[in-house]
Amino acid sequence: MLYDIFKEKRCFKLICGAGNEDTDEVEKLTALYSLAGCNFFDVCAKAEVIDAAKKGLKRAGLNDRYLCISVGAESDRHFCKAEINGEKCISCGMCEKVCAQKAVNKKDKNFEINQTRCIGCSKCLKNCPNKAIKLIQKKTDLKELLPPLVQKGLDCIEFHILGDEGREIQVRLKEIMDNFDGPLSLSINRERIGDKKLIKVVKSIVNKRKKYTTIIQADGIPMSGGKDSFKSTLQAVSTADLFLGANLPAYVMVSGGTNAKTSELAKMCGVEIQGVAIGSYARKIVREYTKRDDFFENKEVFNKALKIAKDLTERTLKYL
Ligand code: SF4
Ligand code: SF4
Repeated sequence: MLYDIFKEKRCFKLICGAGNEDTDEVEKLTALYSLAGCNFFDVCAKAEVIDAAKKGLKRAGLNDRYLCISVGAESDRHFCKAEINGEKCISCGMCEKVCAQKAVNKKDKNFEINQTRCIGCSKCLKNCPNKAIKLIQKKTDLKELLPPLVQKGLDCIEFHILGDEGREIQVRLKEIMDNFDGPLSLSINRERIGDKKLIKVVKSIVNKRKKYTTIIQADGIPMSGGKDSFKSTLQAVSTADLFLGANLPAYVMVSGGTNAKTSELAKMCGVEIQGVAIGSYARKIVREYTKRDDFFENKEVFNKALKIAKDLTERTLKYL
């Protein structure tokens, strides 16, 4: 059962990216990290992405790994895509430089965003000198989206909220629970609401469910990962400490800015998290290999990537 990896404090979740629709990368990441010892995978809520993840796990020959999809409130950045206004763009190339997801392409002198790869992290927007980029919200109807995806066999659904969506949270949560009665992961951070309200919102959801069927994913600073430092993961550990202090009947893990130092920092601070989810950093350290067409066929390439993935997995699980 999925709950066991939390009870036994051995959950390392690889976040392939809630908005990452690149099936080629997802297949490679799931195959690679499952062989490295990762036991939980979070992918975009699209049929072809779930299929790609399953293909990756099949390639690895492992059938004891858990699969989760992410859905969320409409205003959550995880479900937005960036777009460039060509009339405002001055072709400075800054967006290409800062995009860790390698979603910005240059064609002649023009820059374009590959919507399949964009995860809505906003780094390009924040660095564009001419305000030529905006985030576009994607509208999703969970009543239509979920039934065919759930049929594919999911171990968990992750619900991303910002905490101030009011009634939208209740409506979407009902739509999830009407379609799926398995584990619910709740990804939430302190970006928009204060600590007291944050706990109140989470408590109201956790208390509607059976005890220990909810996983609280304390999202430090969403999609801020990439660096391997204590500093970038500090907010995630601090947010987890807040949830643990609330003593809710739920498991607590961390995400957002997470890296190879996350579980070590939590251990040093005495924050007893039950799992770690890593996205941007985990994808970045193997990207030089996963972007290659001969990734699976070239044993040298695959084994180099595997060594890096194993190191991250072992360092993460060591301190849990
Ligand atoms: S950062 Fe802005 S101005 Fe520069 S290339 Fe990108 S979109 Fe154009
Ligand atoms: S920086 Fe983030 S928002 Fe911008 S294109 Fe890359 S992934 Fe998308």
